[in-house]
Amino acid sequence: VTTRTPFIAGNWKMNLDHLQSIAFVQKLAWTLKDANHDFGAVEVAVFPPFTDLRSVQTLISADKLELGYGGQDLSAHDSGAYTGEISGAFLSALECGYVLIGHSERRTMHAETDEVVAAKVTAALRHGLVPVICVGETAEDLEQHGPSAVPVAQLRAALENAGANPDIVVAYEPVWAIGSGQAATAEQAQQVAAALRAELAERDAELGARTRILYGGSVKAGNIAGFMAQPDVDGALVGGASLDIPEFSSIVRYQK
Ligand code: PEP
Repeated sequence: VTTRTPFIAGNWKMNLDHLQSIAFVQKLAWTLKDANHDFGAVEVAVFPPFTDLRSVQTLISADKLELGYGGQDLSAHDSGAYTGEISGAFLSALECGYVLIGHSERRTMHAETDEVVAAKVTAALRHGLVPVICVGETAEDLEQHGPSAVPVAQLRAALENAGANPDIVVAYEPVWAIGSGQAATAEQAQQVAAALRAELAERDAELGARTRILYGGSVKAGNIAGFMAQPDVDGALVGGASLDIPEFSSIVRYQK
């Protein structure tokens, strides 16, 4: 039987500068330590803005914190004339374990197509980063195509050049649930997570069995347990609530 370690990830979006990030990570670490959080039982990671990553790395390595971290995006290219872009090599050099790819805010506000997302996934893998591949349907998609068609197609496209069994995390984030306060139901999340897992399993049975699938979209302390009780939901990608230490800690400690 494959066991998948539950994973709670905080997407800070464009919040907290490098000084604020130091205070925040220290407080979060103390809060979880005080609560005797077992990081081996529920993995935790944060996704700060690029300019915070060096501070976060220094703090985490100095205090030997078991907190993971990664970038919110990366370039599809490794180096060169790409003003304003960040290479996966730079994220690796800062010992990032993960990188978010294809968040709906990047797909809609930065015109990231499925092709761009696929190129970024291979860039992440090339640099030893685990891509957290974000997929999800808009309210319109849901009405026109039903719950799973768009997320499954986005996942398939994202993995176009990724090989049979890449080391990835998938985040199912219905666009209508992000930042809206209106989360999907646990049953809706399970239905799509199962379809995403079937897509992975079709590619490679082991990939389907071991890949963690997260739910994201208005996750709070009050609804996390319902999502985590679903057989195909292995964690959460948390936006707004990840900036509130007591709330995020309660989400991490959903079993308590
Ligand atoms: C997100 O942006 O990944 C997200 C899930 O946001 P929120 O939790 O605020 O809905």
